[in-house]
Amino acid sequence: MSPAPLIERYRERLSLEPGDPVVTLNEGSTPLVEAPRLSERLGVRAYLKFEGANPTGSFKDRGMTVAVSRAKGRGAEAVICASTGNTAASAAAYAARAGLRGAVIVPEGKIAIGKLAQALMHGARVVALQGNFDDALRIVRELAHKHPIELVNSVNPHRIEGQKTAAFEVIEELGGAPGALAIPVGNAGNVTAYWRGFQEAGTAPILYGFQAEGAAPLVHGEPVASPETVASAIRIGNPARWEEAMAAFTASRGRVAAVSDEQILDAYRWLAAGEGVFCEPASAASVAGLLAHGLPTVEDSEPPESVVCVLTGHGLKDPDTALSKAPAVINCENDLSAVEQAVFE
Ligand SMILES: *Cc1c(COP(=O)(O)O)cnc(C)c1O
Repeated sequence: MSPAPLIERYRERLSLEPGDPVVTLNEGSTPLVEAPRLSERLGVRAYLKFEGANPTGSFKDRGMTVAVSRAKGRGAEAVICASTGNTAASAAAYAARAGLRGAVIVPEGKIAIGKLAQALMHGARVVALQGNFDDALRIVRELAHKHPIELVNSVNPHRIEGQKTAAFEVIEELGGAPGALAIPVGNAGNVTAYWRGFQEAGTAPILYGFQAEGAAPLVHGEPVASPETVASAIRIGNPARWEEAMAAFTASRGRVAAVSDEQILDAYRWLAAGEGVFCEPASAASVAGLLAHGLPTVEDSEPPESVVCVLTGHGLKDPDTALSKAPAVINCENDLSAVEQAVFE
């Protein structure tokens, strides 16, 4: 038996109305994996919260189960979102589950192939916009204003509510909050959600947020007009939850910093080969950031004894990036000694 859907586990702490249906794919309850090699490199006990183990392969499912249940409860017939890929995959799946129509607007040519396949297979209308994520979000906000269609981006408060449950799980599993949490930051909904979850549980771990160098508006303190990074899930130039995220970094005595694409890809490969955990490039920003910047603390605070790295999405989402960075396949003729040579050489 799989664990209960997160709405059943945490209903009294979520934002649903009493009559709302539960639209679920049994999301949440994802593995918190110890990371011995990462612990050794960082000099602190490190864990990986593997959100790629959610039903559509990313943490977006935590927010989507709540947002789509509420949408269904209030009689919506369709949902819409702008997406760098994972929100589209998740919205499409939960819309299908709920019997709602779904439309997703993605930046043309800029989303990983697995995510596109998911959105299409779940029957959503997929619109490839000749613009970036920030353009897409501006447009869907206007559409949701004009038409009776539910916006399920993380500007939707129910998304944050659902996503905060990851913090509850971490606390339950460790028997308390970790000293610190490292997380990739795109639209800044997830860091906002973790902070809310930790705060509601009466805890306050240090939050370390990481953006890609070419898409680091929070680090530079101003929007980035044309964000660029290999980590497509965090290719966002003007985060919707900007102020809340910055307030969370400050209140937690943490910070937000940038990592280069090369650092992201190094961490991405190293996690897969060294810890056996395959996440997508954006997810690896959390580990890349700790490897690059360490775990700095503000004056007179104790260094954290443990850190949880949020691995936001599954590596299988983006096979193109994986194959372009992985070693080559060894071709071999149909012959024992040839195979022997290929394997043992
Ligand atoms: C959505 C997403 C992010 C960024 O999360 P935000 O809430 O937008 O900051 C990071 N990694 C992956 C894999 C994502 O899908």
